[in-house]
Amino acid sequence: MLKPRIRINYKKTDELCRKLWKYYMLFTKDNYERSDLIYCPLKAYNRMIGIPIRKLPNKAIATFLVGQTLHVLIQNAFPKIEVKEELMPNLIARVDIMWDKPTEIKTTTMSMYTKEHIPTSYIEQLAAVLAFRGESSGYLITLDILNKTLLVWDVAFKEKQLNEFKRILEDRYQRLQKAVQEKSFSSLTPKVLECGTCLYGIENCPLFRRLRNVKP
Ligand code: SF4
Repeated sequence: MLKPRIRINYKKTDELCRKLWKYYMLFTKDNYERSDLIYCPLKAYNRMIGIPIRKLPNKAIATFLVGQTLHVLIQNAFPKIEVKEELMPNLIARVDIMWDKPTEIKTTTMSMYTKEHIPTSYIEQLAAVLAFRGESSGYLITLDILNKTLLVWDVAFKEKQLNEFKRILEDRYQRLQKAVQEKSFSSLTPKVLECGTCLYGIENCPLFRRLRNVKP
């Protein structure tokens, strides 16, 4: 019977994670993304000023791959996917599916049975596209991989709500661009609830390094 010596090769595992991340990295320093205005603005700030991600957790890469794979499996059934829209100059949104309405796909390990389960960030991402397209409704496809539940949600907004949200996004974008130009993040409001899963992490994020008096 074969009895090979088998052990985990951490060096090659890390190399694979970095290769995958580099290959599939959607975010570039050339443009801003819609999510930059939805999630912690310091993530976009860090990326745009070139702060490297030093630690690349295996779990983050695995989660990313699972999400991307399932996205593609759903998108394969549709002709118009990954539709790129420039919401504001140099600010890109990729709509997952152009069905009869803009449609976003979200794969999640959270239970997704009632509208109360839907995170605000999912709603805001769809709202951003609708607000700039001048449309009032779209679909959210949720694939809850924990409970194996696939649902399509109708999401409709009042015109006034979307106009107000558009103004908020314009303001966030202006502040973010200014912060990047001036290389100063003091005007940005961090979303510390995201720190636990953030690739910059509190070790590398300049906000926390400054709080701890760590030299750049
Ligand atoms: S560590 Fe926290 S504050 Fe810093 S970029 Fe990440 S989420 Fe934002």
